[in-house]
Amino acid sequence: MVEYSAKNKNDNGELSLLAEATPQAVGELCRRFEQGGYRAWAVGGSLRDVLLGRSVADWDLATTARPEEVCRLFDRVIPTGIEHGTVTLIWKKASYEVTTLRAEHGYSDGRRPDHVRFVEDIAEDLARRDFTVNALAYDPLNDTLTDPFFGVNDIRDRRLRTVGDPLQRFSEDGLRVLRAARFVATLEFDLDARTEAAMEPSLPVFRKVAHERVRDEWIKCMAARAPSAAFDIMKRTGLLKVTLPELLEQVDCTQNRWHAFDVWRHTMLCVDQLPQGDAILRMAGLLHDIGKPKSRAFSEKTKEYTFYNHEKLGAELARHWLEDYRFSNADRARIVDLVRHHLVCYAADWTDAAVRRFVRRVSLERVPDLLLLAEADAMSKGRPVDRELELLRELRSRIDKVTANREALSVRELAIDGRDIMRSCALRPGPRIGRILEALLEDVLEDPALNQREILLEHALRHLKALE
Ligand code: ATP
Ligand code: MG
Repeated sequence: MVEYSAKNKNDNGELSLLAEATPQAVGELCRRFEQGGYRAWAVGGSLRDVLLGRSVADWDLATTARPEEVCRLFDRVIPTGIEHGTVTLIWKKASYEVTTLRAEHGYSDGRRPDHVRFVEDIAEDLARRDFTVNALAYDPLNDTLTDPFFGVNDIRDRRLRTVGDPLQRFSEDGLRVLRAARFVATLEFDLDARTEAAMEPSLPVFRKVAHERVRDEWIKCMAARAPSAAFDIMKRTGLLKVTLPELLEQVDCTQNRWHAFDVWRHTMLCVDQLPQGDAILRMAGLLHDIGKPKSRAFSEKTKEYTFYNHEKLGAELARHWLEDYRFSNADRARIVDLVRHHLVCYAADWTDAAVRRFVRRVSLERVPDLLLLAEADAMSKGRPVDRELELLRELRSRIDKVTANREALSVRELAIDGRDIMRSCALRPGPRIGRILEALLEDVLEDPALNQREILLEHALRHLKALE
């Protein structure tokens, strides 16, 4: 156990970093607790992030006050997890998670403790936390840092290690193995060897974790500079086999001569290349070739592997998996569309009509994502792709041109609508109206000059005849 204090001057600059970074509001809150006869500390990830020089997302507090006492001390308290001792405190327009110091006992279901006991000793509370670098407490009033498990050393050495025996800690809560993989990637740490060795034996507990929680961790992995670090650990330790075995089949799945890497390494590079701020686009990168292993065949003629329709199969595999892991409808639709259309086979001899049909097929909304994905896909082949990138840039500017001209790219943008067709063709509502509109759009994609009321009404009659 180490306690760094300003009085003892036994730290290496950590205290002044913390004193400087701790928001005034956190100090005010701790003072309020003290005036009420309690103690309070800033705890967990915020301290770790300050010491790493990273920006802090939110400040969490731990206190000796019981939840009902926190409610008495402050006006605006939301009882977010009151049975576990956690409340959300609103203070000067910001919110803070405040947890009563507690010890946890018996994790018979591998998800949550059977008993929670409130305690007085901050070191006891820190002992229930997952990793040494997350088990720190800072008291801004006395300028002391409590570090019972040498987390400050581990931060300095950039090493992720569980608090206490890794096998036991992983068996208590199956999510922790996945948090380990996530923190290695986001913090850019090394995984302690004993901690890693305990991950595979903990898979039976990991299997019990709710899919929503796995989804949230995967999304958080995507905020790393290189998420591949997390997925490489998941591959080594069996987490990936439990969660998404189709991705594991990509390992050693060699491709044709255009690719320097197997599908797995290619996929990892692709995820890392995509913008760090867009987790869902990176998820699409992760899944874009998910259909490759199952669609691979060897062509005797060319002596090469082929992957016919892997994008269609991949879109279906992705759809089912995303449903199973409870991704939102909007995220799922976006990812499935991108997997489905990720093969952008643009060639310089495309006519403007072909460019418009491409936009119509993938939808204008998906174009920016799709071009980013196609670019990352190309750059992850491990060979020079200057020509491919140049073609993608050309496609982008040609799409910009057709959209700037406000040419119709969907049925909604036609100069007439379903009601006009019903009236002029004397039709009742029915599937034929939609088919006629589709046919009119085809005409207009070919020649935008046709998008005029009179001309389209005339064409509608012709299409109706063809349907009869
Ligand atoms: P970030 O917010 O960047 O994901 P964090 O460390 O703040 O990182 P949270 O999930 O916000 O992580 O949790 C806050 C703290 O609660 C952690 O620092 C850790 O001390 C503790 N903690 C969270 N989840 C667990 C868990 N599954 N097992 C043990 N301790 C946990
Ligand atoms: Mg946090």
